[in-house]
Amino acid sequence: MKRVGRNPPFTGHKRMAMDIQSDISNPNVGAAIIFGNYGTPDNSNTFQFRKGGEKDLDNVQSVFIKSLGFDWLNKDNSHNLFINQWDHTKIRASGQIGNCRKCLKCLIKNTDFKRYKYFVLAISSHGFSEKGEQFVQFLSSTDYALLSLSEVLEAISDKQCPTLAGKPRIVIVQACRTDSEFPDLAEDHGVVFNLYTEQGHEEFPVNALLKEFGHLTIDESNAGLMDTDEVSEDAAPPTARQGNVGSIKVLVQADEKDETKLKIPNNFLVIYPTAPYRYSKRNETEGSWFEFYLKEVVDEYEGHSTELDFFQVLTETNQRVSNRETVVYKRNSAGKIQYDPGTESPSRDEDKSGKKNVVWIEHRITQPLVFRLASGN
Ligand SMILES: [Zn+2]
Repeated sequence: MKRVGRNPPFTGHKRMAMDIQSDISNPNVGAAIIFGNYGTPDNSNTFQFRKGGEKDLDNVQSVFIKSLGFDWLNKDNSHNLFINQWDHTKIRASGQIGNCRKCLKCLIKNTDFKRYKYFVLAISSHGFSEKGEQFVQFLSSTDYALLSLSEVLEAISDKQCPTLAGKPRIVIVQACRTDSEFPDLAEDHGVVFNLYTEQGHEEFPVNALLKEFGHLTIDESNAGLMDTDEVSEDAAPPTARQGNVGSIKVLVQADEKDETKLKIPNNFLVIYPTAPYRYSKRNETEGSWFEFYLKEVVDEYEGHSTELDFFQVLTETNQRVSNRETVVYKRNSAGKIQYDPGTESPSRDEDKSGKKNVVWIEHRITQPLVFRLASGN
């Protein structure tokens, strides 16, 4: 898809006082570690098959390697990794110590990043969170193999990689973030807008709302969010976060906990394709929503711009992800999609449809992230 009929891409970085050094021969000079675990259809290696998960690798590779010209350091070690392919010391029985130079951790540790200005590490896998820590799954011949995000961030820290010090590091964690302690938060049911129409006034369903959320105890600190005194016929169109109001109090407390558990280091940009405690949505042919739209947005810049402001790209990607919702069709016992009688339309499973994702970004970047497109001059 080309950027047709739109304004030219945003170049807000020009407002920033910082000079951007350009290297004509390879202006981005970024290094990339990109890997994805999606398993196999037989669910072997203690890994449930993620149909479409391989598309995440294609999409991220398209953005950072094809469009931005980063070097893909682990191209030969990027699909369906066992935990010892991340860290060779993690196989307990092997007794291996020292530097193998083959696992990703050793590869990172042994790479001299002096000539690089940027670094990206993208993971796509199953995942979950527990007490504020995020985990991603690897393949395993025995039990579940998990890696914590803290360990990933440590591997690319200033301490472990002195030649990355001071350089922006982008980390994409494509995984679910559900927490068994908060199962009710796993799905985002979206936002319902109650609007007044031009003709006559549609009544705002206060009673329905109170009935739905009346059982909840509203935290004092959130006073105003559910202040029914403010709801009147003259009020601005009210919005209600249907089904999730109960989560407001919980999220505030848990965010505080997260803050103490995982601190984003200076110069890091961590992108989660979904909010804390939520599933991350994946389409079986397009791949995960975030990676799909990230590639789509970057592709639209190709041929229309020589450079790309990464925060602007993220904003456009966020917009597309948040505009999407799940559409799940009912299937019969043979697994075939059911059609509504009398019409040709497939019959929609309303319980599973209409679920949302929103991209969650945490960062401590203090300089522009403006990349030259590889196709540009
Ligand atoms: Zn190693």
